[in-house]
Amino acid sequence: MAKALAISVCIRCGNPRILSKSWVEKTEKGNPVTHVVEICADKECQKIVDATFAAQREKKLLQLAKKTASQPQLKINSATG
Ligand SMILES: [Zn+2]
Repeated sequence: MAKALAISVCIRCGNPRILSKSWVEKTEKGNPVTHVVEICADKECQKIVDATFAAQREKKLLQLAKKTASQPQLKINSATG
């Protein structure tokens, strides 16, 4: 059985990334999912990449929160009877 391991490169410096850790998660559907965490060989570079991703995630969450907040509230007509 050939295992094709995709080696990705760092989005920042372009160097091949190294395997940090991997684990298998069992799912209810039956097919276990393999999680792979790859990091840049350059620790300082990885730190910057991590910070970039964290900032992007925060931005997305903020936008999502804004969307939810801007939705008009439904008026519940409780004045019956
Ligand atoms: Zn890098």
